[in-house]
Amino acid sequence: LFEKIDSEADAPPITQDGQRVSLMVNAGLSADLELDQYRQGDGVGLYRTEIPFMMRERFPSEREQYEIYKHVLVTHPNKEITMRTLDVGGDKPLAYFPISEENPFLGWRGIRLTLDHPDIFLVQVRAMLRASIGLSNLHILLPMISSLNEVDEAKRLIKQAFLEVKSEAMEQDQMLSKPAVGVMLEVPAVLFQLPQLAERVDFFSVGTNDMTQYLLAVDRNNPRVASLYSSYHPSVLNALQQIQQVAAQYNVPVTVCGELAGEPRGALILIAMGYRKLSMNAHSLRKISWVIRNMSIHDSRQMLSEILNYDSPMAVQEALSEYLEAKG
Ligand code: PEP
Ligand code: MG
Repeated sequence: LFEKIDSEADAPPITQDGQRVSLMVNAGLSADLELDQYRQGDGVGLYRTEIPFMMRERFPSEREQYEIYKHVLVTHPNKEITMRTLDVGGDKPLAYFPISEENPFLGWRGIRLTLDHPDIFLVQVRAMLRASIGLSNLHILLPMISSLNEVDEAKRLIKQAFLEVKSEAMEQDQMLSKPAVGVMLEVPAVLFQLPQLAERVDFFSVGTNDMTQYLLAVDRNNPRVASLYSSYHPSVLNALQQIQQVAAQYNVPVTVCGELAGEPRGALILIAMGYRKLSMNAHSLRKISWVIRNMSIHDSRQMLSEILNYDSPMAVQEALSEYLEAKG
């Protein structure tokens, strides 16, 4: 019996009506234990590089970063590895780089901080690129993008680092592939500039954690308002639907890497919307694979059109739970 359950758990995540969904892993700790878990998924959809930064007492050097990134990239030479540039500030403080602000979530975080410190950004990107020499699986992801200027500036710096590392690689007769560059969609402003972003980048990654926090103006970590924080709020769902539609229209690959993607009801509704790449904590992979193998695109789409007009997150969650319960 156990053998049977096991073989089913390893079955590819394909819906009852034949749609394959890519399931990827969110990672950050480069412990070997975690690397083992990466083996299960279709790659790493989100590597949170701030975590190795947070575990140290000072900024890791280019060499130290290179070692960490190399370890991750070589584990999966044939799968996409998406490394996000440093996303500190907000809820992710660095003890050796204190920031004191009245509104940290609206302050100096993510790309804002690294563009103000191009030295930090360049060292990190150079380390990623050097680690990718001889490989072609590196994807670079930019966090907290709220304007097109930030994308242009970050791309300019990535190009500079690329040219530097490329000439170093050529001196040693080695190949450096161009990394794919993408942006996190997590600040609501991007909802109104999706076509312009699509022209500038190779992929999108939707951060539903921050998107929910900023759309609803609810701190994602404040217990007092926790009951108001829900990614099943119909406004959040409509935003996610719009992103999927524009990404499809412009042919930009899109992944969802926020917590919603690792929740059974969340994965169900995202797939109904048309998302085919979900990234989640490794321990959610099996559960979500089960959801996919037991759902059908056809009837989940019918449910979706109703759900998007519901009044409350609660009503949405009930409808999704009912669907899943009916599947066992
Ligand atoms: C998000 O905001 O949804 C996300 C994936 O990034 P983080 O949780 O690291 O802010
Ligand atoms: Mg985020």
